[in-house]
Amino acid sequence: MRPVTLSSYRLRACCAARGASLALALTFAAGSGGAQERTAAASGEVERVVVAMGTSLQLRVSASDRATALRASEAAVRTIERTEQRLSTWRRDSELSRWHASPIGSGFAASAALCEDLRRADRWRVETAGAFDPAIGALVDAYDLRGAGRWPTPAALVDARRRCGMSHVTIATRSLRRDAAVRLDAGAFGKGAALDAGAAAALAAGAETALLDFGGQQLLAGAAASRSLDVADPRDRARPALRLRIDGGSAATTGNSERGRRRDGRLLGHVIDPRTGALAEDFGSVTVLAARAFDADCLSTACFVLGPAGAVALAEQLEGVEALALVVDGDTGALSVRFSSGLRGRVTPLSPGLQLP
Ligand code: ADP
Ligand code: MG
Repeated sequence: MRPVTLSSYRLRACCAARGASLALALTFAAGSGGAQERTAAASGEVERVVVAMGTSLQLRVSASDRATALRASEAAVRTIERTEQRLSTWRRDSELSRWHASPIGSGFAASAALCEDLRRADRWRVETAGAFDPAIGALVDAYDLRGAGRWPTPAALVDARRRCGMSHVTIATRSLRRDAAVRLDAGAFGKGAALDAGAAAALAAGAETALLDFGGQQLLAGAAASRSLDVADPRDRARPALRLRIDGGSAATTGNSERGRRRDGRLLGHVIDPRTGALAEDFGSVTVLAARAFDADCLSTACFVLGPAGAVALAEQLEGVEALALVVDGDTGALSVRFSSGLRGRVTPLSPGLQLP
């Protein structure tokens, strides 16, 4: 998460602009009947685009009147800003960075919110048998994932792995301790945490519906009708590969096509397998649906590590979680799809030749 720049934002407030084009149409298209339902439900609607956590955040908030919708959208943005101040490791003054700068082995007085974030992240480490582990700051540095990128030497990898793993971290109600020079990386859960908090703040401020798109992860909260979401083709993210119907909650996608770069002739991805220290094998992309954005965010990263079969198997085990993997054949370049059973009847192929299983 890069630093927030709230100065650069575009605000578009519209009062009951029924049937107007959606700011979020890039990613969300109204499901059947959606527009009419919004007309009945709300006479005030606000659409905004702001830059937060170094990426674009689009909000569409509806409420009974325009003033309430504006207040609710502002509450969401401020809350997301506070989440960034807690979790960003791009800024030295964030709470997480201050903990990293504190002495190893000593108790760090942390906010209840940070302790809760880390407890939830650690639960996903356990549930995914270590495919997700946010205590990978040393490996992120070894691969220079925040810079130009590099392939670390075997010795550098061994050294980095010693400084990784949530097993080095003790989380109490209001304090944190680490027994080695581990650093956490909120790259795979910070946006999710911000989305949940932002949507909750909007609803608490009177919004009836909040639709947020944060750097490609969406959250649909409140009394919203179902929506359809286009999932990008991992070979060319400007093209949609398929359309998914979602009935609320969050959708997170992880794939290297988003950030693909090559070093020494090999694709250097941005997802690490914490169990081995290697980069996760690139197969295409995975999209995870879950009620909470935090969970979808963590799980899409874990599912990318686990690969298509592991991703679907994990989703089948978890109540309320669905996964969809788009797989690019390494030889032919052909695209195929597989998904968990809860997505049956909710997937429409858009890419020519893409067959449903
Ligand atoms: P995006 O930022 O494109 O949404 P992800 O949500 O998948 O991507 O998160 C990837 C980021 O999470 C990486 O850039 C890195 O900071 C961190 N990360 C990489 N691998 C893991 C992992 N296995 N577990 C936890 N965090 C990871
Ligand atoms: Mg993620």
